[in-house]
Amino acid sequence: MVLDTSTLRVSLAVVTLTLLFLFFFITYRKTRSAYSAWWCSALLLFLTGSASYLLDGTVHQEWANPLGNTLLVGGAGAMWAGARSLRYTSPKIWYLIAGPVLTGLVSIFDSPATNNWSGGPVMLGFMALMLGLSSRELFLLEVDYSRVHRPLAYGSALLTVFYVGRLVVFLLQGPNSPVFETYFGSVVTTILTTMVLVVASFTMVELSNEQLTRDLRSRATMDGLTGLLNRTAFMDLAAEELRRLSNARTPAALVLADLDHFKTVNDRYGHAAGDVALQAFAEACTESVRSTDLVGRYGGEEFILLLPGVSPERAEDMTAAISRRLQEKQPRVEARLPTVSYGITATGTGRADLKALVECADAALYRAKTQGRDQSVLAATLREEETAGTV
Ligand code: GH3
Ligand code: MG
Ligand code: MG
Repeated sequence: MVLDTSTLRVSLAVVTLTLLFLFFFITYRKTRSAYSAWWCSALLLFLTGSASYLLDGTVHQEWANPLGNTLLVGGAGAMWAGARSLRYTSPKIWYLIAGPVLTGLVSIFDSPATNNWSGGPVMLGFMALMLGLSSRELFLLEVDYSRVHRPLAYGSALLTVFYVGRLVVFLLQGPNSPVFETYFGSVVTTILTTMVLVVASFTMVELSNEQLTRDLRSRATMDGLTGLLNRTAFMDLAAEELRRLSNARTPAALVLADLDHFKTVNDRYGHAAGDVALQAFAEACTESVRSTDLVGRYGGEEFILLLPGVSPERAEDMTAAISRRLQEKQPRVEARLPTVSYGITATGTGRADLKALVECADAALYRAKTQGRDQSVLAATLREEETAGTV
């Protein structure tokens, strides 16, 4: 059976166009996610790129062939950018432009009027590179997302290997060799591309929905002013983390922080300046803790931290670092930034009840306030003192 290239290309174009319409009018308009915008661009570039090749063999080949190369590499670049945007890193725009521009330039100088493989190796090389990068992005997603993206990660890996194969055979034997035409020619390419586009579109719809759900969920767990966990979310996560820690027999420290005389900050500089001071403190906290620590806004100007694997003494150092960082922000803030009092308690290695820990830290915090503020008090020393007092 001989499959005819033009027919296949037309059917690929129809599939791509259908996907583009469905994707644009349903997924993109519903989610407006960066991911779906990139994917629409990728589909459009693949579509117009393949369409350009239909002009091969006509008088238009001279410009259409380089244009096709440029658009296809651009499409693979948009696919990579889309995959990247899932991890919230903005794509490097120069990387995206460099590939297509270079491919286009090389093709223009490779006698495109007569050579329907103008710039071939460069185009194949960039396709392999961009597809490989997309695949890598998707594999890196593994930790955060459910597994819907896996088929696409494998699909683009397969396509990457295929393009590397095309490049190698192209360089070794040329595009008119039997091996290239049989295994790496337009027919196989078109069939594989159609398959990957369908898998990709299905996956993108799933991923876009998933990203939307996540955004909603994170908004429900986040404190609007500071971006920290809100109280409910902190308590849920901290309770779960404490269970995990006690199973692993790992101690942890719990810290309650309260800004000193915060009411006077509001009174003197206004509520808006007070809000900025709260944001500055939240920043000082997130800059000072590790990614495994939990930080939440407990209420008004009170904050709470759970520091797994940290001794009370080490926690005391961390609170000093937070206060230092807060004061370092003074030049950028209108209001006089307040000092902060901290109450610190530790779990030990046994079972720890979150509510009891918070009460304990709160008592230590109260002591820090009555002892003159701008300091940390360890609940352990508090208990010793109390015992000493009763003896
Ligand atoms: P202390 O050192 O004893 O903690 O004194 P304080 O003034 O900080 O304590 P108090 O509890 O009397 O006052 C807390 C103030 O925090 C009162 C409230 O107006 C202010 N506050 C609570 N939430 C916010 C907020 O979201 N934004 C602003 N700007 N102020 C807030
Ligand atoms: Mg307070
Ligand atoms: Mg206060």
